[in-house]
Amino acid sequence: MKSQLSPLVDTFDRRIRYLRLSVTDRCDFRCQYCMTEEMRFLPRKSVLSEDEVIRLATLFVELGVEKIRLTGGEPLIRPDIVGIARRLNTIDGLKELVLTTNGSQLTTLAKPLVDAGVSRINVSLDTLCERQFAELSRTGHLDKVLRGIDAAIEAGFQRIRLNTVLLTGQNEQQIEPLLDYALKKGIDIAFIEEMPMGHITQTERELSLVPSAQVLETIKSRFSLLPIVGGAADGPARRYAIEGTSTEVGVISPITHNFCDSCNRLRVTPDGRLVLCLGHENALDLRQMLRSDMDSSSLKRAIVAALAYKPERHVFDQPDEPQVVRLMNVTGG
Ligand code: SAM
Ligand code: SF4
Repeated sequence: MKSQLSPLVDTFDRRIRYLRLSVTDRCDFRCQYCMTEEMRFLPRKSVLSEDEVIRLATLFVELGVEKIRLTGGEPLIRPDIVGIARRLNTIDGLKELVLTTNGSQLTTLAKPLVDAGVSRINVSLDTLCERQFAELSRTGHLDKVLRGIDAAIEAGFQRIRLNTVLLTGQNEQQIEPLLDYALKKGIDIAFIEEMPMGHITQTERELSLVPSAQVLETIKSRFSLLPIVGGAADGPARRYAIEGTSTEVGVISPITHNFCDSCNRLRVTPDGRLVLCLGHENALDLRQMLRSDMDSSSLKRAIVAALAYKPERHVFDQPDEPQVVRLMNVTGG
């Protein structure tokens, strides 16, 4: 039976509570699994302005969204990001404002983001080996990110989680060092299976998969894991408390453990396209509607109508299905 309380319920009776807002497709890194070396980015005039972002977000919250994640590209290279966060945080009805970052700008932005109302952040960190970090990110510096994580701890976010994409033959030996680092810092960590987003040249995706079962086996050889049921409305992560510590470890397994039946999210790209599923190309151009002076009620009706096209599931585990051509920096994970 459909919920009467929010119009954001799709044809598979999934109630949408969570919006991932990608505010830029640009980034100071070029991670191998996310981008190609030579990137062409959106023209600046196509990217939603601060006012457009706030207007759209407000409409989604009025429709029933309770949580917004700012992502990208790298959201922290957008000069107006703190102002965006501050204004989002004042939207009536929004319960949680969170952000995903590569950590490179946190030494200066961690505190302003906490003050603006960002409660939790995810920081991507794939390795603690400086050489490997440079290789995987192509343009990043490990040292700067580690200093950023310290600044985030100091700034007082409610929770901080590391996000680690594992690739066979590259960083799969980093499971234990990264886990030890998270334990030492008293923060959380999630290990993510690589998703086939867009055409990249560096790795053969089918060959580089590190299945989450393997990750859990490695961790369980050293620690007792207690499954966490419910809690953060983050969806796809299967989360565990590490007994005797404050650290949570999660696995996100888009390839080996489909989680689409509990999907509660929508995504908006930097140029204002409403993406209904990370694993499909269908999208609604909200920017055109915003810029054509459409009134708020009509915009909301268009968003609700688009939900009819939210697919039942992604097909990342079926290699003969059509590939998603979008790279991950467009939707922000
Ligand atoms: N720049 C920020 C960052 O790196 O955290 C935010 C955007 S990034 C696209 C969001 C998350 O997606 C990161 O944790 C990144 O590791 C992950 N990601 C990127 N490409 C991926 C892929 N092909 N498969 C799985 N995760 C991916
Ligand atoms: Fe940039 Fe994040 Fe993509 Fe890496 S994963 S290239 S940091 S957007």
